[in-house]
Amino acid sequence: MQLKKIVIVGGGAAGWMSACLMAQQWRGDIAITLVESSAIGTVGVGEGSTPFLRDFFQTLNIPEDEWMPACNATYKCGIRFPGWSSREDFASYFHPFNTELDQSGAIQFFKDCYARRMGYDLTPVPDDYFAASAIAKMGRAPFARMSDGSVQVATDYGYHFDSHLLGEFLKQHAKRLGVVHIDDKVVDVKCTEAGGIDSVQLAQSGRLAGDFFVDCTGFKSLLMREALAVPFISCQDRLSNNAAVALPARYAEDKAQKSAQPQARFPTETIAQAMPYGWMWRIPLTQRWGNGYVFDRNYADFDQIEAQLREQLGSACDDFSARRIMWEPGRLQHHWEKNCIAIGLSQGFLEPLEAPMLRIIQFTCERFVELYQSDGLSGRAQQRFNQSVNQLIDGNIDYLQAHYLVSSRTDTAYWKTVQNNQVMSPELARLLRAWRSKESFDSVLSELSDALVYHKTSWYCLLAGKGEFNLPTKQAPASAHAPKQRLKEYNAKGAQNCLLTEGG
Ligand SMILES: Cc1cc2nc3c(=O)[nH]c(=O)nc-3n(C[C@H](O)[C@H](O)[C@H](O)COP(=O)(O)OP(=O)(O)OC[C@H]3O[C@@H](n4cnc5c(N)ncnc54)[C@H](O)[C@@H]3O)c2cc1C
Repeated sequence: MQLKKIVIVGGGAAGWMSACLMAQQWRGDIAITLVESSAIGTVGVGEGSTPFLRDFFQTLNIPEDEWMPACNATYKCGIRFPGWSSREDFASYFHPFNTELDQSGAIQFFKDCYARRMGYDLTPVPDDYFAASAIAKMGRAPFARMSDGSVQVATDYGYHFDSHLLGEFLKQHAKRLGVVHIDDKVVDVKCTEAGGIDSVQLAQSGRLAGDFFVDCTGFKSLLMREALAVPFISCQDRLSNNAAVALPARYAEDKAQKSAQPQARFPTETIAQAMPYGWMWRIPLTQRWGNGYVFDRNYADFDQIEAQLREQLGSACDDFSARRIMWEPGRLQHHWEKNCIAIGLSQGFLEPLEAPMLRIIQFTCERFVELYQSDGLSGRAQQRFNQSVNQLIDGNIDYLQAHYLVSSRTDTAYWKTVQNNQVMSPELARLLRAWRSKESFDSVLSELSDALVYHKTSWYCLLAGKGEFNLPTKQAPASAHAPKQRLKEYNAKGAQNCLLTEGG
């Protein structure tokens, strides 16, 4: 069947990202209508990305100097994780977006991790090995000025952005690509006799029919969960956090006014700081900080968490009100059912510790476009789509859960419980077993490569960064410390050549 009309329901980041990608691909061939209710609004949080968002804007041919200022966006070289470990020397570490330039640093890092796993007294904290860590530590942008005066990318990077502004920017772009926009509320979903979706009934504008539907209705999942009854698979038993308080804060001084090139003059890392009942994010935008505390409602309530967050942020958050958000972590059993796919929070949610959601949105949409192009709406396309989306989400669950399993805080019952959780995937259990034993970790990573979403460097950074090592039993020769020191100096020198920013 050749699609003629796609209806996207929902105008949050998922709806507008999907509208842009589909319209970019099918403009003129398939009519695309997006209906959203401005009265209902969007979830309005979600301010950090991975490097995949660069590809998204490249696909749309939108340069950074167009979209970044419009979305108060800054560069992100990676994520800093303070406070997750009580092990000496591992109080904080940086998870970098690394690049090919980091190859020798990465090789040395893997070697030092191996030596430490074998008992030598090395301290392989990722910060010392990767360019992105040095750049972020200096508060610089991921671009180096070369000796000929040209500017080149110095490390892979993602972004921080204001999610409302991003939605608005993408809305305007999608409309320019021909997407029809309706602001109205869906009050009913009509199904066909065959069990697919026939149309959605709008409060003001009547019936809206289409031959394919994209559910971007956020946590409501109006089409997939409500109308089509696709089962939801909770992963609360693995990722127990189920709520957040989001609270912006002012910068100490008005940075935006001081800067002619705002997005290059702010901190270039997300901070994910462990807290007594979860963790707190700090995200630098050009006009303010985005902050929030992700936690488990079984251990603390919203009032307690907001008080802790306000105490942490001080008077900088006085002018702002907090938002309280709850969710059940998990995903749909499958994401394509009959003539409907789910994209965004309607397909599930994983906590934002590694900011995985926009990547999942982008992947889900791109995968649909790709499979429709190659296999149409066939059962084969549907099966491949569901399998690959689930693989991406499940791989993310493994990586997220690993943060908790190897944390070593013991200050609250919350931390003791998440560390001692025995519920995990066989793949994650296998990885942790290998790391903790003398088995070759790299062989196990290769063996599991089909299931793993995060690359080797990310796994090493997580496990070494949190100090997941036994106490050393052997003294390393003095020469064994030298390569790390050299890399540290090399990266610091390289970072000096990166465009200047002002620290937070
Ligand atoms: C605390 C928290 C922090 C997060 N941090 C990050 C992060 O750092 N990085 C990241 O990548 N992601 C993050 N996310 C996830 C991110 O916010 C979402 O994935 C993203 O915003 C997409 O949301 P959405 O479009 O699926 O849903 P929403 O933004 O909720 O949009 C739903 C849309 O559906 C519409 N709608 C609903 N019902 C109806 C109806 N009956 N009729 C018409 N329209 C309707 C709404 O009006 C709205 O337009 C975070 C999420 C949370 C909760």
